[in-house]
Order: sequence, then C-alpha cells, then structure tokens
Amino acid sequence: MKINLKHTFIEELPADSNTQNTRRQVKEACFSYVQPKPTKDPKLIHVSDKMASALGFSEADIKSQLFLDVFTGNKVFPNTKPYAMCYGGHQFGHWAGQLGDGRAINLFDIENKTQQWTLQLKGAGETPYSRQGDGLAVLRSSIREYLCSEAMYHLGVPTSRALSLALTGDEVLRDMLYDGNAAYEKGAIVTRVAPSFLRFGSYEIFAARQDFKTLKILVDYTIRHHYSHLGKPSKTTYTQFFEEVVQRTLEMIIHWQRVGFVHGVMNTDNMSILGLTIDYGPYGWLEGFDFGWTPNTTDLQNKRYRFGNQPNMVLWNLYQLANALYPLVESAEPFENSLETFKSDFERRSLEMMKSKIGLNMYDAKDELLIKSLEDCLLLSETDMTIFFRQLGNFKKGSASKGLDFVKDAFYSPQEISDSIAQQWRDWFERYDFRLEKETISDKERRLGMNAVNPKYVLRNYMAQMAIDEADKGNYKLIDELYQILKKPYAEQKNHEKWYAKRPDWARHKVGCSMLSCSS
Ligand code: AMP
Ligand code: MG
Repeated sequence: MKINLKHTFIEELPADSNTQNTRRQVKEACFSYVQPKPTKDPKLIHVSDKMASALGFSEADIKSQLFLDVFTGNKVFPNTKPYAMCYGGHQFGHWAGQLGDGRAINLFDIENKTQQWTLQLKGAGETPYSRQGDGLAVLRSSIREYLCSEAMYHLGVPTSRALSLALTGDEVLRDMLYDGNAAYEKGAIVTRVAPSFLRFGSYEIFAARQDFKTLKILVDYTIRHHYSHLGKPSKTTYTQFFEEVVQRTLEMIIHWQRVGFVHGVMNTDNMSILGLTIDYGPYGWLEGFDFGWTPNTTDLQNKRYRFGNQPNMVLWNLYQLANALYPLVESAEPFENSLETFKSDFERRSLEMMKSKIGLNMYDAKDELLIKSLEDCLLLSETDMTIFFRQLGNFKKGSASKGLDFVKDAFYSPQEISDSIAQQWRDWFERYDFRLEKETISDKERRLGMNAVNPKYVLRNYMAQMAIDEADKGNYKLIDELYQILKKPYAEQKNHEKWYAKRPDWARHKVGCSMLSCSS
C-alpha cells in the first residue's frame, strides 16, 4: 500500500502527555495517543470503491491482508501513531463537559490529489474518553453509518465518508431497547473519512476551561489547514472563520431539509467545523412529511431535534461556537452580525430550495405563500415526502384538475383523502398551475430540473433495517445492493423501482424501522 501520509494534527497540536489508556480528564491537549484494540476474527463486509479511489487505494490494496489488518485495528500502519481527540459539547441544550472520541480512533491522514483526509476507526476499543462506554460499535449501527454517509455524499450533501465496514468477530453487549434486557450483538468497525473530524465541541472544551492558549493554537491550526484562504490568523481572520463556518453549516442544513434527513442528535459535539454531516447515530429519513418528526427515542419528550427544528438548532449550536471563539476576538459584534445574517440567509436559501423542489425559477412575491400552502396540504394526510416531490415532477401545465393523479402514490392512506382534503389539493394545484405560467421552461425541462434536486432513492429506515436483518444472518448482498442504488439517487434506475416505494406497513412500528436511540 503506497500512501502519502500526513501527520499535521499530531505534529502541530499539543498531545496529552499521559499515554496510558485510562479514562480521565485531559487538560491542555487536543488528543491522546491510543492503540486500537485487536479483534478476534476480523472480516471485511464492504469497501466503498468510490472512497477507496478518492484516497488512492488500488484494487490490490483493498484485497491485501494489510488493508484488513489496518482497518479493523489489528495492525498499526508503519510510521503512524493513532490517537483519540479531546472535545466537549452541549448535549440536548446543556453543557456536558469533556466527551471526546470515546469509540473513535484516528489512524492517520492521507494526502491524495491535494486533498487531505483523516481516516478514523469507529468501534475499535476504549480510549481515555470512553467514560462508561466500551469503545465498541455493533453491526446494526455500523451498517447504518456506513450506508448513510456514502448515500449522503451521492445526494450532494456535505458529509463525512466511509471507506470500509468490517465485522470484528467479537461480541458486544447492548441493551438495544433500554429495557434492562441486554444481549450480545456482533461487533463491527466502520472506517470513517473526512478532511477533519474537528467539531464545535473541540473549541468549546478549551473555552469552558478558560484555556485560551490551547484554544488559540487549535483555531490557528484549523485556519492554517482547513481555511487557509483566509490568510494569516488574526482577530479579523477569526471572525471571518466564524462567518464561513456559519455559511457552511447553513449550506448543510438546507440540504438536510431538501432531502428529508433528520440527524437526531445535533449536539455541539456532533457539529463539524467544516459544515459536514457527522456522527450518524439515530438519524432517520422523513417518510410522511412531518415537521414534528424525530427518529431519536431519547429525544421524544422535547423533540428538540425534530425535522422542523433542525435549522433553529443549528443556529443555537452556532451561538455556542461563537461563545467559544469570543475570547480570541473580545468583541461580540462580528459574531452577532454573522448570526443575524444566518437568520435572513436561511429564509432566503430555504425559499430558493423549496422553489427548486417544485420547479420554480422566476420571482413571484407570492411564492412563499404557495409553498406554505403546499406544506399545509402535505400535512393533511400522511404523505411520503420523497415520492411526492419526485412525482410532482411529472405534472403537466394545464392539468390542475388532474393534479392529484400525479402524486397519489405518495399517500399512505388514500382513503383519508376526503372531499374536503381533495378540494384543498385541487385549490393548490390550480395556484401551482397558474404560477407555472410565469416560468419560461417546458414541462420536460422543469421535470429534469426537479429530478436533480428531488431524489428518487433515499436510505429509508426500513431499507437499512432489512440490510441489517440479512447481515445478522451472515448475508451481505443487500448492503451492496443498497450501496449501488444509492450511488445514483437522482437517476431513474428502472430495475430498482421496488425501492421507490412507500415504507411497507410491517415497518411502521418495527424497532429500527422508525425509531432508534442514541449511542448504540
Ligand atoms: P454520540 O451520541 O455517538 O455522538 O456520542 C456521544 C459521546 O459518547 C462521544 O464522546 C462518544 O465518543 C461517546 N460514546 C458513545 N458510545 C460510546 C461507547 N460505546 N463507548 C465509549 N464512548 C462512547
Ligand atoms: Mg458524537
């Protein structure tokens, strides 16, 4: 394996001087050296060919013993020093103190074609940050993270990536339903990849400890390596840095709302400083369009991270980051300006995004109202978000009275579409049809444009669960089938239409198909 190793993180940032793998508070350091735990019987289940080639791995590399050993934690790649990162975070609105990589171990960085990537094992054993956890991950959550991060990438959503999914051959004890019935499950490791895994919490921890020296070192490092176009670190660059994090995070959240992705645990330790979607835990995809939906059972009481609240939560998290960076600038105004801009930019970008989903390019003062009434209609009876928007692309100008025929497949209970509901829909289609007159493009051009923003295939919760159930029985074919389909989420893929379907009835209440809990 010929790889171009980089070691900027460990070379340029302060390390924990303690090299024992014991749980502790780690002060004035950005990371601790730690070795992955060897596994009993490692076996690769899947490798992302796209990610492998982006990293410069050849077919032969992927098939080699060294690849298997390194990406299951059984061998440390020559001349590298694995480490776990120190960070804190606000969890569900409260400062939680030190968290850190409790079950993630960074192996090394690779530079390929001018892009730097950090490769990280998730589930490779305990670290000084493991707290009460075992540092391990189970097969079901690993399949979910593996498939979803690659699917998000192909959807065009900024995200961390995944290189490989492997079984460890070890058993991991988990209480899946949190009901006191713990059981052994298959252990697994995902190799995650991102230009950096730094999070808002990476900065918050130093601010909370009033360790402004290390805070500055880390912010300067981040700018030098990940925001280098901003120039030499200074008070001005710090606020520009924040402004850019705001903009990138905004971009990410617009994409989430566009494709109906609900993260589930938007704590500040899960917010990437690069505006990437990171930490795929109890995430879910909207099936019925519903602003109030969250997949996370741990959050059912307040539904803090429900679909419709994700933009507010991003803003709340950005406030925490602003507070953490403030000591380096000592002036609140530039931060406040960026946060204010977020609000107006969000409204504008969200409207643009929703307009693109219904194929509108021109300006009309009433577009916001048109979209608001569409959302009202979508909430009248359970309506599949993905199918609705994709089907709407087939609408033909002048066929308002038949509008419902184009989208009827999206209704979960067609019998619920009473006369009055049908009438509201017809009214909406009349307005939509009238509005389309203002557009200059043909039906076909509009459909093509809409199909480029309204995916046909997303990783529905039940699809991931089916892949998990099969994998539990030792059959990994479905993982590959889903991986291949989700590489082209916007393409028609006529041979795979069975996955362009509403969630089946059996999946409505099945564990794993609709609700999940944190940190499994
Ligand atoms: P998460 O909700 O997955 O983002 O995790 C929140 C925090 O808990 C992070 O610091 C994780 O590293 C840690 N954590 C989650 N699961 C485990 C585990 N099984 N062992 C050790 N630490 C964990
Ligand atoms: Mg996390």
